[in-house]
Amino acid sequence: MIFKPKNIISRILTFEKPLMSIIEHLTDNIGPRPSGSEAAVKTADFLIIEFENSMLEAHKQTFKHLTWTAEKTECIINNKLFPSIAFHLSGNGEISGNIYYMDNPSKEAFLKADLKDKILVAEASHGMGMHRTAIIDAAIEGGAIAYVQISKIPGGIVETGNISRGGIVKIPALCISYEAGHFLLRNVKRGNGELTLLVKGKESDVTGENVIGSIKDVRNSEETIIVGAHYDTWETGPGAFDNGTGVATLLTLAKILSLSNDIPVNINFIAFGAEELGFKGSMAYRKEYIDTGKLNVPLMMNFDSTAIPKGVRTLMVTNSPLYLQNTEFYVNLYGFDVNINTRPPFGTDGFPFYLNQIPVINLEQMRLDQPTYMHTAFDTPEKLSEDSLRHSTAIVGGLLSHVLSKKGPREV
Ligand SMILES: [Zn+2]
Repeated sequence: MIFKPKNIISRILTFEKPLMSIIEHLTDNIGPRPSGSEAAVKTADFLIIEFENSMLEAHKQTFKHLTWTAEKTECIINNKLFPSIAFHLSGNGEISGNIYYMDNPSKEAFLKADLKDKILVAEASHGMGMHRTAIIDAAIEGGAIAYVQISKIPGGIVETGNISRGGIVKIPALCISYEAGHFLLRNVKRGNGELTLLVKGKESDVTGENVIGSIKDVRNSEETIIVGAHYDTWETGPGAFDNGTGVATLLTLAKILSLSNDIPVNINFIAFGAEELGFKGSMAYRKEYIDTGKLNVPLMMNFDSTAIPKGVRTLMVTNSPLYLQNTEFYVNLYGFDVNINTRPPFGTDGFPFYLNQIPVINLEQMRLDQPTYMHTAFDTPEKLSEDSLRHSTAIVGGLLSHVLSKKGPREV
């Protein structure tokens, strides 16, 4: 009875507490919460209390990891200083030189490009196209001496992100605003575009925290479903969409499922730390609890940036044809506006689990018609909607209860 998807869906849609209030607390009262910061610890403490208020057993898992901070970042175009932000793990150095401009970085564009001793200047894509870590790899391979990304969002906005697949990259890499970028390009066209960059950053050891709230199966089932969302952000942005939305979904699901007393499996709800720095929190969790055989995990569900008013919601379902069929059946049954994709959950906390052959269902949302402001100072709550957030939560809540309504997750 309890696990009928319809019941869970209606409980989520009529849940008395606005889901947006969780996001507003994270953005307005706490603010940016990069792993290792005081704000991240404050967030983790808040999450412990939220889990405990839902009668879950809650604890923290701490882990050490490297982080990187820019001590100085400068971008000077024709003797004018423009606001800029260094990408995480940018190379150090002061560089002047000629630019090579690419409006839409792609493998083909790199094959044609002459980057030797030039500064690669490229426009960022909105979630489509080459990821910035692939761009920097191709730029270095082609002999570029620095990388400048022009933000696609007008209004003096700069975007941050991770640039490295491991360790400090060889060349300085930073982002400048749309307007600064176009000022540069106009000057280059006129033959007088002079660009000088400076990045000085340093690595340090910090402690990250995962927050785990558990629902225990009274029959001592040996299986534990993991339900996760990261709570960390970049130091520049309050992270309403990325990933206040996922945290709101996580806490709401934990609260609603905790009201059931007949869940046929253990569930660990996990708010992961240090996702933005290369899913360090989920990796630490996997290492301690799964690689060691402490937990037997038949399914991992993850929510990362899930609720903007418009856009394409995607459920990535990989590693298991059975979960895929099950998800398709369920989504069609309820007519949810969600795409099902069989691509691996790259760049999310689902990825470490996917690498261990654990079935992963990852929900994320994108929009191509306008920016989502993720990884900027303007990722704020008024760009989201309560309805959209509830709908995202209802989809994954219904799906999870659909899985649980079967005899056991192994048999779905
Ligand atoms: Zn995220």
